[in-house]
Amino acid sequence: MVNSGAYYRLVNELSQKGVQLIAVSKTKPIEDILELYNLGHRDFAENYVQELVEKAAKLPADIRWHFIGHLQTNKVKLIAPFVQLIHGVDSLKLLKEINKEGAKNRRVIDCLLQMHIAQEETKFGLSAEELEQLIREAGSLNLEHVHIKGLMGMASFTDDISKVRSEFNKLKEIFDQLNSGLLTSDSRLLTLSMGMSSDYQVAVEEGSTMVRIGSLLFGERPGK
Ligand SMILES: *Cc1c(COP(=O)(O)O)cnc(C)c1O
Repeated sequence: MVNSGAYYRLVNELSQKGVQLIAVSKTKPIEDILELYNLGHRDFAENYVQELVEKAAKLPADIRWHFIGHLQTNKVKLIAPFVQLIHGVDSLKLLKEINKEGAKNRRVIDCLLQMHIAQEETKFGLSAEELEQLIREAGSLNLEHVHIKGLMGMASFTDDISKVRSEFNKLKEIFDQLNSGLLTSDSRLLTLSMGMSSDYQVAVEEGSTMVRIGSLLFGERPGK
C-alpha cells in the first residue's frame, strides 16, 4: 500500500526546491506501483535487473524506469532498450558496455557515476580520483551512446546526522569541482542523486537534485 499523504507531502516539499523524486519500488508488488502511478507519479527505481524487467513488462509504458543497483555488464542488454537512467555506474568497462547496447538500441543512455562517500567498506563506488579519471577516459573515447549526466552516492547508515551531512557535502563538493574544472559547458553534470527515506532532508540541504525514496512511500521492506 502507498502512503499517499507522505507522497503529497514529499512532492510538495521537493518541487519547491526543484528536487526530483524517484520512487524506489524494489520488492514491492505491481499493485503498489500502480497505486502511485495513478496518483500521477512516473519515475520508479529498482535495484535488480530481473525484477525491473518483469515489472516493466506488466506496467504502463510511460513509466520512467531507473536502475539503482549494482549493474553487471552481462545484464546491461536487458534494460538498455528502455531504461531512463542508470544511477550506479562505477567502471569504464560498464560504461563501454552501456554505450555498446545504447548503439544497438539507437539511443543515448543517461548514466550517473557512483562515488563512494560512506566509510563502510561494503558500498560500491569510485574515489574522487577514480571518478575524474573515468570522466577523462570516457571523454577521450567519445562514447556517443552514453551521457554522463551526474553523480550518485549513498551516505553511511547511521543516526549520526553530522556524519551523513559531511558525506553528502563531500559529494556535492566533487560535483561542483568537476563542473568548474574538468568539464566543458556541454558535458556539465546536471544531476546529483543523493538521499533516501532516512536522510533525504539532509541530502537536499546539501545540494541534492534527485532523491531515491522507498520505505517512506511504500512502507518498510521485510528484513530491513
Ligand atoms: C533501496 C534503495 C533506496 C531507497 O531506500 P529507502 O530507505 O527505502 O528510501 C535508495 N537508493 C538505493 C540505491 C537503494 O538501494
